[in-house]
Amino acid sequence: MSEAEHKELNCKSCGAPIEYLSGESTLTCGYCGNTLMLQSIGTIVPVQKHYLLQPKVEEDARERTIRQWMSTGFFKPKDLPQVGRLEAPQGIVLPFWVVACRSFTQWSGQNRRTRRVGSGKHARTETYWEPASGSFENAHNWSVYARRGEEWFGIDALNPGALKTEADWGGFFLGFGMGSEASQGVNLMQGATPFDIKQIGEKLAIKNGQINQEQAEQEARGQITRFSRTIADGRVTTLTDCDTQITVDGTYLVHLPLWVYRYTYEGKAFRLLVNGFTGQIVKGEHPVGKYDKLIVMLVFLLIVGGVILLIIFMMTRK
Ligand SMILES: [Zn+2]
Repeated sequence: MSEAEHKELNCKSCGAPIEYLSGESTLTCGYCGNTLMLQSIGTIVPVQKHYLLQPKVEEDARERTIRQWMSTGFFKPKDLPQVGRLEAPQGIVLPFWVVACRSFTQWSGQNRRTRRVGSGKHARTETYWEPASGSFENAHNWSVYARRGEEWFGIDALNPGALKTEADWGGFFLGFGMGSEASQGVNLMQGATPFDIKQIGEKLAIKNGQINQEQAEQEARGQITRFSRTIADGRVTTLTDCDTQITVDGTYLVHLPLWVYRYTYEGKAFRLLVNGFTGQIVKGEHPVGKYDKLIVMLVFLLIVGGVILLIIFMMTRK
């Protein structure tokens, strides 16, 4: 991307200058909190449905939640809450478009089945395919990050399906993604209040948006269609058709306070994203304990040993 150009316009509400960068299209006045959307050259529309999730969780409360998170769940080192070293967090207020919508998915495919045919000595198992179809509905408050070209760790976990917990096995070959967990999604409209700049403390930097409402709705449609397809995919062996219809009921701009943490454990760095409104962990990475690896290794060896014994037993029985 080329160097962004600094621009300025005056707030329609209080007259204060609003500084922004070229490419930004959803601008929040730092003085009065009024928010404008730049549609195309010369068209400025105020954003009516602008909400805020108030940053209200204090630092010690956030740290308690993190220590609690470190001490629960699977495959975490026992001494993680004591030994894990938290660095000073970065506080930010990021803009999201929340697309309130309903989706209806119809799918069809085939299931692999087996049955026993014949009798006595001629009995055998046969595989056959059975047609299957179905439909399901979902209501969403789907969030679309309103900026491009920058990555914030963990914001994907605000929507369902993305990983919420990531276990780092550090190259251990028997990890198989165990200990990782998918997100159920976070409803950003729950507890949202009309945007009020006075509710945001000085420690938090507000970011302007770069994508407008229309682009956000299009993005949400694409993401929900893909998400619905993975649900349909889980219901049948082979999915042949999948169609999702989406009805948008309303789209809101929501500013969400977030805290980005980094912590180290045995010289390695891990990341955590904390919701500044609920205090909950949106997404976290964690190391896997040495004993967990040892136990997994033992279980693996027991299974391998068992299989070898069984083979020997079968071969000597003749
Ligand atoms: Zn203003």
